[in-house]
Amino acid sequence: MTNSTNDSVADATQTNRTPAPTPTPAPLLCNRKERFRHCLETSGAERLLVGLDFDGTLAPHVDDPTRATLRRGNRELLERLVAHPKFTVAVISGRELADLRSRVDVDGIRYAGNHGLEMDANSPLNSPDSVRSTIGRVCGMLARELASIDGVQIENKGITASIHYRSVDTDNYEPDQLCQLIDQVVSDATTGDGTLRLTTGHNVIELRPPIDWDKGRALSQFIDEETASVFPLFIGDDTTDEDAFSVTRRAGIGVHVGAAETLADFQVSGPAAVSALLEWLCETCTEWL
Ligand SMILES: [Mg+2]
Repeated sequence: MTNSTNDSVADATQTNRTPAPTPTPAPLLCNRKERFRHCLETSGAERLLVGLDFDGTLAPHVDDPTRATLRRGNRELLERLVAHPKFTVAVISGRELADLRSRVDVDGIRYAGNHGLEMDANSPLNSPDSVRSTIGRVCGMLARELASIDGVQIENKGITASIHYRSVDTDNYEPDQLCQLIDQVVSDATTGDGTLRLTTGHNVIELRPPIDWDKGRALSQFIDEETASVFPLFIGDDTTDEDAFSVTRRAGIGVHVGAAETLADFQVSGPAAVSALLEWLCETCTEWL
């Protein structure tokens, strides 16, 4: 039972805490490039750290996530950015690190896979092998339990897993139903001890170890590891990218891909607009740093 003194302390803490920002619709970047330019020019930073999500950002979404590839021309744009002394490029994705590296395949980029749980081959996890074992066991159980649902794809990503339902007929099977079923399987497999948590993304349900780590923490670590002062820009399309936007909201620029309420400062329409933004960065914004 909580006593009244502790309640008062908790209430006081709540009262003094800065309220969490609320996602809102963001203005289209193409209408606000001068504001973007002003932010960079007045940042005082020596370099720009360009953080990018992969699926839906650098690569168009496809029904089969194993077939996702960089949008045409993006590899060359990334190579130009990496080669420039004023840019650091980081790709932060929910994909497994080895998978992400092979799909981007550009040297000199900072890579973070599994939402930052794998960062350039390091992991913030204390015992990744134990997590891998649990994920493997849960994926086996999910394969049996979900076998009757057409279109479900289970992806074992080592220390996390993704259950993709983009191809599921949602007239017959609601995502909430799927989420409840997966939650039950995870609870049975882990005897409800909280060794995995569920998060939801764009047509995907993900299983992760319950540590306080996300794309925002990964972006912050990349920023901290820079030797020069950097101004972060993050571009992404998914709900998990909001954690990175909470970092750029404090200092930096966030660009959400697609129309949705977001913590990002701007939005662009889709992966083609992301390519156009990267090209614009290559050609013009080095003058402003
Ligand atoms: Mg994405």
